[in-house]
Amino acid sequence: MLNRRNLLMSAVGGIALPLAVNTNAQGQTSKPRAPAPVPGLARFKVGDVAVTAISDGYIDLALKLFPKTPEAEGQAQLARSPQAKPLRGHVNAFLIETDGKRVLIDSGGVKAAIPSLGRFHENLAAAGIAPGTVDAVILTHLHVDHIGGLFDAHGVAAFPNAELILAEPEYAFWTNPGLLARAPADFRPFVQAAQSAVAPYSNRVTRISGEREVIKGLTLTPAYGHTPGHSAVRIASSGQQLLVWGDIIHAPTLQFARPDWTIVFDTDGDAAARTRARYLDMAAADKIAVMGAHLPFPGHGYVSKAGSAYAYEAAFFDYDA
Ligand SMILES: [Zn+2]
Repeated sequence: MLNRRNLLMSAVGGIALPLAVNTNAQGQTSKPRAPAPVPGLARFKVGDVAVTAISDGYIDLALKLFPKTPEAEGQAQLARSPQAKPLRGHVNAFLIETDGKRVLIDSGGVKAAIPSLGRFHENLAAAGIAPGTVDAVILTHLHVDHIGGLFDAHGVAAFPNAELILAEPEYAFWTNPGLLARAPADFRPFVQAAQSAVAPYSNRVTRISGEREVIKGLTLTPAYGHTPGHSAVRIASSGQQLLVWGDIIHAPTLQFARPDWTIVFDTDGDAAARTRARYLDMAAADKIAVMGAHLPFPGHGYVSKAGSAYAYEAAFFDYDA
């Protein structure tokens, strides 16, 4: 019988070659690896609006970053998760294509500050998007894990033709001339990063007070608390809705069950907790799909309510988008 192996052996004079079979250090044979993973991209439709989730990487949080969480209760909550790293937060940004415009919501993190981040631009390129074709960047807030893609190592704008759109109180807080001087030492890098990110765009920043439709179908809406002007973006098109809620949730394994467990990075923890409860209630009651900057990639899902706790359910991937 002439099978593939016999054929190969006869072709090389009976010398068996380890074709297409790898041998590992222990001398065991194994199959070759699958090709490298696909880029961190996932695409959805909201009516006529196309939404592409773009992965920037992840941050591993620690329980001590949640100061209102009693250690034993926090550990018990984490122990309920079967995941090896239940306090991992993904970092997602979003590309919105609507009405002939390309709009980013957030831009990934500063890799120099958080080495597990920094995949945003390579994934944006993999999506076929040239930075010069981006019309606007809406910023949910100016923390380091949302602004890293805005500027390069020389402080040059990464998006030469984009305007920045963000809430007035967010812009005012971070660009306050006296903030850097009076900031505690461990907070100064946050301030410097925020100021470095917006500086190259200083002549093309649109600041929004209250709630306003900023681009057709995209409404910036206050979600203040995590930062002074932290905002969500409501996408509405052809009767469908999606709420891009920024940092309403940092740690899914903790905060869906306990929305009152705030993170240390909140400017006003009590306000952040009230805002979280309000958004979770709204998403659950109205069955609005949400997209989160720190939900497991692509960060697209639904919220349901069970007693005083909430649960998150990932949305099924839409093959028609
Ligand atoms: Zn964040």
